[in-house]
Amino acid sequence: MTCPYIGRFAPSPSGPLHFGSLIAALGSYLQARARQGRWLVRIEDIDPPREMPGAADQILAQLEHYGLRWDGEVLWQSQRHEAYRAALDKLMQNGMSYYCTCHRSRIQQIGGYYDGDCRYRQRRPHNAAIRLKVDHPIRQFFDQRRGVIVCEPALAQEDFIIHRRDGLFAYNLAVVVDDHFQGITEVVRGADLIEPTVRQITLFQQAGWQAPHWLHLPLALNADGNKLSKQNHAAALPDGDPRFTLCQALRFLGQAVPEGVEDTTVETLLNTAVAQWDITSIPVNDAQNGLVATTAFSNDSH
Ligand SMILES: [Zn+2]
Repeated sequence: MTCPYIGRFAPSPSGPLHFGSLIAALGSYLQARARQGRWLVRIEDIDPPREMPGAADQILAQLEHYGLRWDGEVLWQSQRHEAYRAALDKLMQNGMSYYCTCHRSRIQQIGGYYDGDCRYRQRRPHNAAIRLKVDHPIRQFFDQRRGVIVCEPALAQEDFIIHRRDGLFAYNLAVVVDDHFQGITEVVRGADLIEPTVRQITLFQQAGWQAPHWLHLPLALNADGNKLSKQNHAAALPDGDPRFTLCQALRFLGQAVPEGVEDTTVETLLNTAVAQWDITSIPVNDAQNGLVATTAFSNDSH
């Protein structure tokens, strides 16, 4: 019996969705639907200083507007602290993690990767981060589109932070605990997250959990060659007719764009895209493809 497919889209509410985040949302959606699977949405609201009030609701409204309907209830990471705490406690009890008081400046001086200096500290110091003790670094992993990805040894073997000095749960910890909790079978997301993937596979292994499969999508770059992101002020998705933008995203993902889009509904457009979805056509290189100002349809409302 094959395991049913469960995919997810997991934005952080630091701003509204832009074209780059639409690529991740649409790619994960199409892959899940083409596998007759479930597609879940998780709001990664564990870093309040980086969040924008109202962004989470705006993201959910944008997904609905673009016809990307998720299954079940949205999972909010802000409601999951007990689960993260339990995972941290278990790792500490099993000797798989330790407190670290090292400052970033020292780590930068030694080349940017942490050297395990605090590994054998006995007591819990004041104001410390918690790091995973990486005893069995992974050498490579398999990406469904890119094939075998060889990990940089310094990255793979670094004892990385799972609980921050400022008291917040680290991104890698929360993601792994939740992907396990939600039974995610495949993670489809942007190639900027290949480094976190290395760490997350390590954490899955040390927690004794089955890791999902991985599919990394190309990144949309702005005119300067930087990734479209909330940090560099990528424009929010247009809130007018979503069909043109969806077609742009399909093209970006190397997919066939259905004929006669002007005469079809968003739902039909997406159903056709699911039927035609072909991951072997997804480009592996990042590309400039921000939203252009002109639109193909005269009835576009913005
Ligand atoms: Zn340290």
